[in-house]
Amino acid sequence: MLTLSANLCPVCGKDISPDEFWDQGGCASFIICECCGVESGYQYNPSQPWEGQIDHIKELRKEWFAKLRDFESKAGVENLDFDRQLKNLPDEIL
Ligand SMILES: [Zn+2]
Repeated sequence: MLTLSANLCPVCGKDISPDEFWDQGGCASFIICECCGVESGYQYNPSQPWEGQIDHIKELRKEWFAKLRDFESKAGVENLDFDRQLKNLPDEIL
């Protein structure tokens, strides 16, 4: 069974410790990730098994990448460390 850290955005791997995108029971906090803009509990459901959401998460990541290409020159993006963030996530969801 695939388990993900509630501190990490499953789409972009952003660590929001000590905050969490969902609680121990899988209830979404409805936090919008400041990095990729994906909302916990709205665009994915942490109370459901991740295995059934992997394709959807990958689709959200693709949309995020596409948005980044559009906003490449804007401030803030240069601080993004894709490799480090995405290494936070298990291979199964990448
Ligand atoms: Zn994110």
